[in-house]
Amino acid sequence: MILAHRIELDPTEKQKEYFRQACGTARFVWNWALEEWNYRYDLGANTDACEIKRYFNSFKYEAFPWLKNIHRDAHAQPFAALGKAWKAYFNGEVEGRPQFKKKGKCRDCFYVACDKFSSSGKTVRLPVLGQVKLREPLRFTGKIPSATVSREADRWFIAMAVEIPQKEVHPPSGEALGIDLGLTTFAVLSHGRKVEARKPLGRGLERLRRLSRAHSRKRRGSHHRQKAALRLARCHRRIANMRRDFLHKFTTKISKNHAEIFVENLNVKGMDRHLSRAIHDVGWSELRRQLEYKSLLNGSVLTVRDPFYASSKTCSECGYGMEVLPLSVREWTCPACQTTHDRDVNAAINLKQNTVGYTGINAWGQEGSGLAGTASETGLVEPGTLPWVNTHFHSQER
Ligand SMILES: [Zn+2]
Repeated sequence: MILAHRIELDPTEKQKEYFRQACGTARFVWNWALEEWNYRYDLGANTDACEIKRYFNSFKYEAFPWLKNIHRDAHAQPFAALGKAWKAYFNGEVEGRPQFKKKGKCRDCFYVACDKFSSSGKTVRLPVLGQVKLREPLRFTGKIPSATVSREADRWFIAMAVEIPQKEVHPPSGEALGIDLGLTTFAVLSHGRKVEARKPLGRGLERLRRLSRAHSRKRRGSHHRQKAALRLARCHRRIANMRRDFLHKFTTKISKNHAEIFVENLNVKGMDRHLSRAIHDVGWSELRRQLEYKSLLNGSVLTVRDPFYASSKTCSECGYGMEVLPLSVREWTCPACQTTHDRDVNAAINLKQNTVGYTGINAWGQEGSGLAGTASETGLVEPGTLPWVNTHFHSQER
């Protein structure tokens, strides 16, 4: 299993200057490669990242001599990242073609490959720079295949990918848990607890808007504008930290206390834009990324099921399926077995068992909800094959 551990760096002024240059280089190479790729693509030529990289390498030091000051990993990796971005576009996973990166608008980062760096204690050894101080030591031990250095507002971070050997762990003793995710209540657990989301963006949004307006009022290129941009970036960072903190506490507790965890597979991409922002705000995909690796670390089993398992319309006691159950109905009583259900808790219970898709005969002599399939052929996704595994790390690369 590969985990990414992100640690804040404590660089000297000279090192910060190198970081800035390396980020600028990575951005420059990405833009150069994208322009070349666009040109070939629009001509109808078939091309790939390797071909464009070879072409670039054939003259790069002659045309751009300043590249020599920056370690070559920083100018090699954007080709791979761009190749991935085009692949995602060709496969229909993203809507638009890859975009140019604009200074100040894009994420500043650059890449370092495995044999070029090492970490011990509270330092990391980076190519060209040598020792750079870390704010905390690396928490995991294992082979480190790569790392990405990135900037958030005025701080620098390194995300190191660490290959953790799979250890034998005793699964936690707690019962199976279904987690139903919602927009109004962040998560409803099958044993009845409701977890309210911290929606820092909702609360911090006004401040964010104000800072953003202040930023756009300042003259382009001015010192004041730079300072306003920094204040805006800090606000974004605070919001991101609050969100991360809430999710980490929640997922750690769950993965340490339940042998089996069931969540619903949400297709965030298919939802409309407005809704997606709300989802992003409450951090569903981040929740699943964390559950995925923490369940592996703690010995619990995470199962991701098709959304229809989280059915609110099926009785989790007897499998009876209601024809209609309007969204406004928060509580209902099953006509077959007389059990009274909380809408969301019932859905969470359905997630962890096979009530949905139940085709037996219910108490009324009718067939159950009859939704197609059984667990083995529909909802189950093998742990470790999930698309969001280490998405944090991959997004660092992009
Ligand atoms: Zn029932």
